[in-house]
Amino acid sequence: MIANSLLTPDKDPMGSAIADYFHQRKTDRLRVFSSQFDEDEIPVSQLFRTLQAMPPLERTALKMSSGHILDVGAGSGCHTLALQARGKKVDAIDISPLSVEVMKLRGVHNANQINLFDERFCGSYDTILMLMNGSGIIGKLENMPQFFFKMKQLLNPGGCILMDSSDLRYLFEDEDGSFVIDLAGDYYGEIDFRMQYKEIEGETFDWLYIDFQTLSFHAKQNGFQAELIQEGKHYDYLAKLTPIQQ
Ligand code: SAH
Repeated sequence: MIANSLLTPDKDPMGSAIADYFHQRKTDRLRVFSSQFDEDEIPVSQLFRTLQAMPPLERTALKMSSGHILDVGAGSGCHTLALQARGKKVDAIDISPLSVEVMKLRGVHNANQINLFDERFCGSYDTILMLMNGSGIIGKLENMPQFFFKMKQLLNPGGCILMDSSDLRYLFEDEDGSFVIDLAGDYYGEIDFRMQYKEIEGETFDWLYIDFQTLSFHAKQNGFQAELIQEGKHYDYLAKLTPIQQ
C-alpha cells in the first residue's frame, strides 16, 4: 500500500531545515541515509533555488505549465512562486507541516498540508507538476496503478503531468559498460531513504527513480501515454504524461 499519511513536526527533518533557512537561523546538514547507498546530504539552499538557478529540465516544465496547476510535494514552494510570479494559478501541496508553513510565509497563495494519495483530496487540474525527481513520490513500481488512478481523478480533459526522474542504471554499470543488476530482484530504482536534520529523525520512506522506458510501459498499462520532453546531463529527463483518449 502506498503511504497516504502526513508528517508531524517532530518527524519532519526536511521541513525543519526549510524553516531554519527561511527564518535565517543557523542551518545544519540535511543528512540522507539509505540501505542501498552511502550517507549523503542535500544542501538546504538548493531547496530555495530561484528560477535562474533551476536546472533546464525544471525551467522547461515551468514554461510548459498552463491553466490550473498542482505542484505536488512543493517543498519550500520554489516552483509555485516562480509560476505565481508569471501570473499562473497554482495549488501547492506537501505532507510536511513545516514546509507548508514556510510556503505560506513566502507568499504562496494556496499551500496545504495534503498527501497526494489521500482519498479525500480532489481537484481539477490542467497541469500536475512533480519536480526534483518527482517520480519519487510514487515510492515503488507496484504503486503505479494507484498513482495513475489518482491522476485520472485530478486531471481536467486535455491536462497532463510533468514529471522529472533519473535512470539509476549508471550506478550499476561496470567500467566496461556491462550491467550488474539482479533481474530477479526488485527494480533497481526502488530506493529506501531516511532523513535527519539536527536531532530530528524522519521515518524511512520509499522513493522511486525510474528510467523512461519503464515509465512508458507502466503509463501505457494504466491508460497514459508518456512523452520524453527533454534529457538532462546525468541520466535525468523530463516526461509528459497524458491520458490516452478512449
Ligand atoms: N518540489 C520541491 C521539493 C522536492 S522534495 C523542490 O523541487 O524543491 C519532495 C517533497 O515531496 C518533500 O517536501 C516531501 O515532503 C513531499 N512529499 C513526499 N511524499 C508526498 C506525498 N505523498 N504527497 C505530497 N507531498 C509529498
